[in-house]
Amino acid sequence: MTRRLGAEDAGDASALTCPSSRCEPGASLIAIVGDDGRLAHITPALPVDEAFAEAAAQHGPPEARMRFASPCLEAGCAQWTGSSCGIIEQVMAAGIGPAGGRLPRCAIRPSCRWYAQEGAAACRACPLVVTDATEGATLEG
Ligand code: SF4
Repeated sequence: MTRRLGAEDAGDASALTCPSSRCEPGASLIAIVGDDGRLAHITPALPVDEAFAEAAAQHGPPEARMRFASPCLEAGCAQWTGSSCGIIEQVMAAGIGPAGGRLPRCAIRPSCRWYAQEGAAACRACPLVVTDATEGATLEG
């Protein structure tokens, strides 16, 4: 199944962290897409600078191969429902991810928007969510 979900737009940030952000200076690299299409989280997260962002863009949209984190933009994001992130709500509604099991070892959990909204269920679905900032985000599964 593949579902298309939107990426965020520019705007003001909140105290929470968006785990499906664009590859741009100031963001953090938090996961890499493996050969099986699943995300492998990276701990600690790696800072993205201008050189990294430019190099990563040489091989197509970096968001299709990696996941990046930045401050959650809340009302500045097209996915903001008015009170929450619509992307993780769609993921949960689709029943993506296993019901149990270990959570990914993740660098941003204490501030993650998705974890704040949905708890462990978000983390179990998280490795199946791939961002593409030019087209939206897709769920592989
Ligand atoms: S949903 Fe869970 S695993 Fe994914 S980025 Fe947030 S805290 Fe990390």
